[in-house]
Amino acid sequence: MSKDNSISRKVFLGKLSMLGLAGAGAGVILKGCGNGEEAPADPCADLSGLSDSDIQLRETLQYVSETPNPDERCDNCEYWIDDQHGPQCGGCTLFAGPVHPAGWCVSWVPQS
Ligand code: SF4
Repeated sequence: MSKDNSISRKVFLGKLSMLGLAGAGAGVILKGCGNGEEAPADPCADLSGLSDSDIQLRETLQYVSETPNPDERCDNCEYWIDDQHGPQCGGCTLFAGPVHPAGWCVSWVPQS
């Protein structure tokens, strides 16, 4: 192997190394490209005490912890149970488990 080939290999490996570092650096940079705020964790997401059928019913009713329509929230729904699961989470008369006040499902109806 000639000296020139050896130098070329060194340069090539050096460039690969830089690309690897650049890739890792890009990941860090991309991770930090948000607005600096992470979405708050849902305090009403603990479903550990629920049965599979309880969880299935929540899914069937398409329950979400953040309503797609600000006028229709769990805490202004007829089926809402205030503070049933602590100060941050209510409940729903239609299914078991914690419900987020700003949540929603397809069974939403206005409080009477
Ligand atoms: S019926 Fe749906 S919208 Fe109403 S409180 Fe229960 S989960 Fe929320």
